Amino acid sequence: MAKRDYYEILGVPKNASIEEIKKAYRKLALKYHPDHNPGDKQAEERFKEATEAYEVLSDSKKRATYDQFGHRGFGAGFDWTQDFSRVRTDFGDLFGDLFESTFFSDFFGEGFGRREKVYQRGSDLQYSLSLSLREAATGTEKYINLSRLDKCPTCNGSGMSKGTGKRACPQCQGAGQVSYGSGFISFARTCPRCKGEGEIIISPCRNCRGSGRVRRMHKIAVKVPAGVDKGSTLRIPGKGDLGLRGSSPGDLYLLIYVEEDELFHRDGDDIICEVPITFVQATLGAEIEVPTLFGKVEMKIPPGTQSGRIFRLRGQGIPNLRGYGKGDQLLKILAEIPTNLNKEERRLLEQFRDISEERTSPEVKKFWERFKH
Ligand SMILES: [Zn+2]
Ligand SMILES: [Zn+2]
Repeated sequence: MAKRDYYEILGVPKNASIEEIKKAYRKLALKYHPDHNPGDKQAEERFKEATEAYEVLSDSKKRATYDQFGHRGFGAGFDWTQDFSRVRTDFGDLFGDLFESTFFSDFFGEGFGRREKVYQRGSDLQYSLSLSLREAATGTEKYINLSRLDKCPTCNGSGMSKGTGKRACPQCQGAGQVSYGSGFISFARTCPRCKGEGEIIISPCRNCRGSGRVRRMHKIAVKVPAGVDKGSTLRIPGKGDLGLRGSSPGDLYLLIYVEEDELFHRDGDDIICEVPITFVQATLGAEIEVPTLFGKVEMKIPPGTQSGRIFRLRGQGIPNLRGYGKGDQLLKILAEIPTNLNKEERRLLEQFRDISEERTSPEVKKFWERFKH
């Protein structure tokens, strides 16, 4: 479904003043508020739609973006957790005595849900981290850029404008609790307006709109232990979003992805490497250099090595993440049959064929004997 035009939603002309926009939004918000239309999904949608339109059109920067690019100006979509804040800042101005928390309850999802719990720990963040097989085997240090909520530098995390403070919450008169119920029974519950704090911010900081947090890019160094594998998760404590009003930050989870390697294939803690050699090396034996994850090693190919034979290099695999030693490297030998022979090479091989005896190929001999019976 195509998104409706914000001006159309609010029913105001393109050159509407901020006052006209406010008035139009106030009217729609009260009309379509879910409390006045219980169970009416359409009214709820209207309410959200109008709120989104107000968020954009009441902010001169966002409005200019919208006027120029339309909905496309906001990329993948409207980010409620980030962008939905004008209504909050302007709340008193818009709705006077109505209670913010009950007015917005929780139908805006996370953005509001988060704010309901003032001392909530910050959210955990998840990022993926790509490593080469060698990095996974040896361990490494990586720098990653991540966007996380951090202390607002303008108000130093207090959420208040400079030189202002807090006042007693008008809903609970500073008690942090309100009672409800009627007749003989009444219950106390946490005050929905101040979330139990007993006081509210008089003038929210403009930079963070009272939350005390702003989203910023961070470059952090991450130590990756040797032995991680595809699907491993690294937890970096305290590097998630900062909590509200100075409560503790969440954690950062790094989901490990290991790139395919051209030489090595991982099987648990073992590393498999296929090594082609010439048929002459396989026949006569040879000393060759083979690669491991940790450098080159010399290796003796005994005479008569069959194609497909596997040699094990102990301790040259991946260190076990839980500390159970190291895996091995398995070298699978592939003897290459020559192609593109020239005349001389061909002649020598024919000569070899003519003088060679059965004993040089015992498997061939065995097979044909069985076949005859
Ligand atoms: Zn209160
Ligand atoms: Zn601030």
